[in-house]
Amino acid sequence: MRQTMSLTRVMRTYCAVAVGVLLLTAGALLLGGPMSARLDGDASIAAVTAGLGVAGTLLLLVLGYRSLRRQIGEMQAERDTMLANAHRDALTGAFTRSYFLSRLREDVKHEPDWSMGYMQIDMDHLKVLNDSGGHSAGDAALVHLIGAVGRILPGAMVGRLGGDEFGIAVRGIESKPALRRLGDQILRELGEPLQISGRPVRLSATIGIAMAPFDAQDVDQLISKADLALYKGKRSGRHTTVAFEDDMLVDERHRRFIERDLRAAILLNELDLHYQPIFGRDGRTIRSYEALVRWQHSVRGTIMPSDFIPIAEESDLIDKLGDWVLRRACLDFASLSAPSVSINVSAVQLRRPDFAERFGKILAEAGMDGSRLVVEVTETVPMQAGTIEQTNLFALGAFGVRIAVDDFGAGYASLEYLRGFKFDIIKIDRSYVSNLPAGRADALIVSAICKIARSLSLEVVAEGIETEEQLRFLQSCGCTGFQGYLLGRPAPLRVGASVARALASAA
Ligand code: C2E
Ligand code: CA
Ligand code: CA
Repeated sequence: MRQTMSLTRVMRTYCAVAVGVLLLTAGALLLGGPMSARLDGDASIAAVTAGLGVAGTLLLLVLGYRSLRRQIGEMQAERDTMLANAHRDALTGAFTRSYFLSRLREDVKHEPDWSMGYMQIDMDHLKVLNDSGGHSAGDAALVHLIGAVGRILPGAMVGRLGGDEFGIAVRGIESKPALRRLGDQILRELGEPLQISGRPVRLSATIGIAMAPFDAQDVDQLISKADLALYKGKRSGRHTTVAFEDDMLVDERHRRFIERDLRAAILLNELDLHYQPIFGRDGRTIRSYEALVRWQHSVRGTIMPSDFIPIAEESDLIDKLGDWVLRRACLDFASLSAPSVSINVSAVQLRRPDFAERFGKILAEAGMDGSRLVVEVTETVPMQAGTIEQTNLFALGAFGVRIAVDDFGAGYASLEYLRGFKFDIIKIDRSYVSNLPAGRADALIVSAICKIARSLSLEVVAEGIETEEQLRFLQSCGCTGFQGYLLGRPAPLRVGASVARALASAA
């Protein structure tokens, strides 16, 4: 800033000196001309000489001015580059958060008709990559992401907004669909196989986009709208580009409503568990039930878990909800005529250092034998020994609790899971079952999973079975458990007064 002022001062001083020199030259020539004319008597030659003198000085001054201006311009550009480089993230070369934001705001301040495309990118599953390949693997992935952005959007301004989150400002884009295509191009490039820490990986990211002036009047609005779109993309399964739409503001209001009311619902005991039977090899005998949470809202009726679990996972609500589910499943167990009951545990719950301890306390309070419980976790849980998640799962194992990997095959680390962690049950993801038996690739994958599971002495449960053909095929593959609408839908259990009282006193 100070440097800009001193450069401006140099220009001003030059202009003042130039005007002075010009005035002096003109004065000297205008005074000197008539005097020399009086002496030698030729006034016209004197006037021409004076004119030429002034013109020559003027020319020299203009040339000097232009050269000085160019040099100052170069110095300014050099200084801007140095300043910008001082505000770059050392790993990726993207601008730091505060510099990126202030430059964006500064850039559009003097443009009344500014237009800009904006992308908010979030690398998917960076934590899993860090846990499985070390921090150098996570770093390499981020560098690769920014490299891809640079290749596809060479003129864009990129800022690192958080650990795995980046903002990209793109000028000269005429429409949101065009911006979205560029986002998809980045995702395609990221999805190409590459080697990180000597292992083949395919990276993925989620992108939210918004455009000014259509979506926003200022930079902050633009960023928060792209962020809402990004949030939507993450909730709908990641690895996608989502453009901001006005409806998302309604979703945001919905999110706030859920956060507020769910807290009250847990205390007021407005949650409920529905139970879906899981059948044994013969497809007729119930061997356990899966507990699936429901929210009986006094005004909105039944709210399904997909509408509130992802929101609960963003705060301690998921822990409160998880404790409630475990307590309730333990209390209900006596009324379930089955050897065991499964509950779903979110990867976020397993990240809490005191998870296993609280779990053990609830089991003890309910007098529940751990071997009657199955905990279903998804593949997003890191599988390396030594992580908090694994320590928690190991402690559950010590209580006799069995661990099932839910939605097996839906994530990107399925096979890694098979060798990484000792668990007891595989639940084949519904998406494989729905195409059976006609979908050849799915049929091959399912039978391969069953073979591997058999050789590792793991149980395999197939979920989402809706037709007799699917059931027969899965039986022929050697699945050991079956679950789906064909065999039994999730249904509520009638709660006795004693269970309701126990829950009310625990809340
Ligand atoms: P999930 O663990 O994969 O649960 C199975 C889901 O598939 C359930 O949906 C169930 O109703 C549905 N389903 C069962 N059979 C069929 C079928 O034949 N066809 C089809 N199309 N669907 C079937 P629901 O109850 O809506 O649960 C959705 C997800 O919410 C669950 O997926 C689970 O990830 C999560 N969830 C449910 N309860 C809890 C809970 O208490 N805690 C946590 N952390 N997550 C839960
Ligand atoms: Ca489940
Ligand atoms: Ca599942």
